[in-house]
Amino acid sequence: MERRNSLAAGRFLIALLLCLTLVHPLHAQDAAGGYTVAPGDTLGAIAARLGVPLDALIAANAIEDPNRIRVGQVLIIPNADGSLPVAALAATTATGVVRAAAGDTLATVAARYRLDPALVAELNGAPDTRRLFPGQPVTVPADVTPPATVSLGAIAALETPTEIIQGRTGRVYVTSSRPLNLIGRWNGQPLTFIPLSDDGLHHFAFIPVDALLEPGVYPLEIGYITTRGVEIARAWPVTVSAGPYDYQEIVVSQDKADVLTPDVVVAERERVVGIWSQISPELQWRDAFQRPISVDYPTTSPFGTRRTYSVADIGNFHAGQDFGAPEGTLIFAPAPGIVVLAEPLAVRGNAVIIDHGRGVFSGYWHMSEMKVTPGMQVAAGDVLGLVGNTGLSTGAHLHWELRINGVAVDPMQFLDEAPFEDKTKE
Ligand SMILES: [Zn+2]
Repeated sequence: MERRNSLAAGRFLIALLLCLTLVHPLHAQDAAGGYTVAPGDTLGAIAARLGVPLDALIAANAIEDPNRIRVGQVLIIPNADGSLPVAALAATTATGVVRAAAGDTLATVAARYRLDPALVAELNGAPDTRRLFPGQPVTVPADVTPPATVSLGAIAALETPTEIIQGRTGRVYVTSSRPLNLIGRWNGQPLTFIPLSDDGLHHFAFIPVDALLEPGVYPLEIGYITTRGVEIARAWPVTVSAGPYDYQEIVVSQDKADVLTPDVVVAERERVVGIWSQISPELQWRDAFQRPISVDYPTTSPFGTRRTYSVADIGNFHAGQDFGAPEGTLIFAPAPGIVVLAEPLAVRGNAVIIDHGRGVFSGYWHMSEMKVTPGMQVAAGDVLGLVGNTGLSTGAHLHWELRINGVAVDPMQFLDEAPFEDKTKE
């Protein structure tokens, strides 16, 4: 009797559920493919009601114990064939964004990142044949592997970065099938290609990103000039993202301000720019930088801080890294190079500039004493001078600056990483 009653009750419930299903086929299910668990729901009932396989429902929601779901829990409802709806897939997959290049489809983007085209199509809600415009964001899984290399004419393999942070330096690596007259442009400036091998087939170039360059997508043009003088080049989009830079106001004392007339400031800038716009033939910098000052003296003002000065024309951001240290503290060369400037300047004080080759220069300002002279070859760890408070400085410190093709970039990046990777062995 009891059993018959419960069976009857069960039939009644099923009938009721069917009825509800017929009247409100998408009861509690929203457009994004979600379903909110109601009192009395079971996974089996939900699966049956919505016409999806029970195991697909369990898999889509990564449910460990199918007997335990709670009221109010939002379930992802897979499609009838078990595949996930687009929105639900994006909601359950940690995703990132990459940028399409000229001529890309979702399938070519998938190929570049070694992804399943069907997955990329699903994440972006479009067929994998969909054409994309350069710079168009494409949703990909968060843990994508770096792009596979691409080719262009006699350039057999090209590795470009997809994203660089303001004030930091990216690299592009080029492998060619024969020695080429390579060309490259970034943010209106030509790139300097540096050989990685003696056969002329492997090169790289630094991509120095100005600390004030507006975040956005910029074209990185890479190519070569053929023996007939024809330019073969293509642009790859690189996303410049915002750096973690603070803001600071610098008040200059009146006696220092009096010396820093616009003429003096401009003449000094022309002097140093004239030095670091040179390109000497050999890159001497091969290993990560050594610290230019003992670890006992931490950063007092980092690279990139946006600044306003009470003196005009000094600049609008901090072009180097400051380490506060007592006057007389030793300053070391971080990498090999040739001293190309060692003289007193009005703004920079007693200043030393080292040429590391191929358009890479480092600068050391405000010294109390310089221990090198122009033309000297220095090795990493050689003493350049002593910390001081000369020039436009409000206390004894070392200002350390890195210029790549004239652009001030964060020198601290290269305490952690080598200037380039040896791609000739891959
Ligand atoms: Zn500084």
